[in-house]
Amino acid sequence: MKRRNFLKVSGLASAGLAVSAEAKPLEQRRLISGAPCVLSTWRHGVDANKAAWAVLDQKGSALDAVESGVRVTESDPESQSVGLGGLPDREGKVTLDACIMDHESNCGAVAFLQNIENPISVARRVMETTPHVFLAGKGAYRFAREQGFPHTELLTEKSRKAWEKWRENEKAEKPPINQENHDTIGMLALDAEGNLSGACTTSGWAYKLHGRVGDSPIIGAGLFVDNEVGAACATGMGEAVIRIAGSATVVELMRHGYSPQQACQEAVERIKAKHKDLKGLQVGFLALNRSGEVGAHSVYAGFDYAYRDAQSEEMRKASFDRNW
Ligand code: ASP
Repeated sequence: MKRRNFLKVSGLASAGLAVSAEAKPLEQRRLISGAPCVLSTWRHGVDANKAAWAVLDQKGSALDAVESGVRVTESDPESQSVGLGGLPDREGKVTLDACIMDHESNCGAVAFLQNIENPISVARRVMETTPHVFLAGKGAYRFAREQGFPHTELLTEKSRKAWEKWRENEKAEKPPINQENHDTIGMLALDAEGNLSGACTTSGWAYKLHGRVGDSPIIGAGLFVDNEVGAACATGMGEAVIRIAGSATVVELMRHGYSPQQACQEAVERIKAKHKDLKGLQVGFLALNRSGEVGAHSVYAGFDYAYRDAQSEEMRKASFDRNW
C-alpha cells in the first residue's frame, strides 16, 4: 500500500497525528539499536525496574530482566492488582494471568492460574520446556507444581477485606473500571545486545466473573514483541484491548513507520472507533522500539509509567485523549 493511502485508511491523518516526513516502512529504514533501558506500567514499576535494571546493567538479557522485574510486583502483597495480594474475583478467588515474549518471538502464557505467586516464571517455563504457548486453569496449576512452584495462598487479609466490603455494596452486575480496581504490570526492556523482551502479569479486573481472562496473558493483546521493530504492552480494560489486538497493533504500526508515541496514539484511536460508549473505558499502551524510543498514551488521564536507563530513573506521565 502506498504511504499516502495507508495514512488515509488508518485515519491517522484525520486525527491530526501525521507521521514525520522521515518515517518509512521498516523495509526502508534499519533501526539502529539503542542503549539498554526498561519501562513498565504504573508506579509499582519503579521497584520492578530496579530489579530489571540490575540484570541489564550486568549485560544480562532483556528476557531475564523482564522476568526478574515483574516478579518483584507479583510478590509484593501491597500491590493489589498483581500476584500475591491481588484483588479476587467475585467469588473471592485470586486468579492470575501472565505472559512473556523474547527477541526470537518465543512466548509463553498462563491464564486463570490460582495459588501460584509468580505466574510470569510459570509462563517462561511453558515457553522453554513445553511445545506449547498457553496453559490455563487447573492444567497450568498442575504444570507449575510439577515444575516445583510452591502452592501459596494469594488472598491477603487486606484484599479479603476489600472483597467483603465490595460484596456488601454490590449493586451493579458489572463492577466499574477505575484506577482502584484495575492495574497490571507490563514491562518492556532493551538489552546491551540490542534485543527486546516483554512481560505482562495481573490479577485482572477486580471482582470479575469467575473464569474471566483479560488481555494480559494474550500474546498480541496484552503484550507483543517483534525484535525487528519494537515491543508494546497494554493496561486497562482487557476486553477493549483484545478487540483491537492492541499490542500487536502498536508494533505493526511501528513497522509501518510510526514512532512508538504515534503508534500508541493510533491504537487508542482504534479503541475509540470500536466502542460507542467510552465511559470508564480506560486503556493505556506503552511502546519501545529497537532504537530505545518510547511511547505512552491512554484513553483517559492518569496513566503513568516508570522508566529506567543508565542516566535516568523516573516516573513519567503518559499523554491522554480525555479527562475523566
Ligand atoms: N488489562 C488487565 C485486565 O483486563 C487489567 C489492567 O490492566 O488493569 O485483566
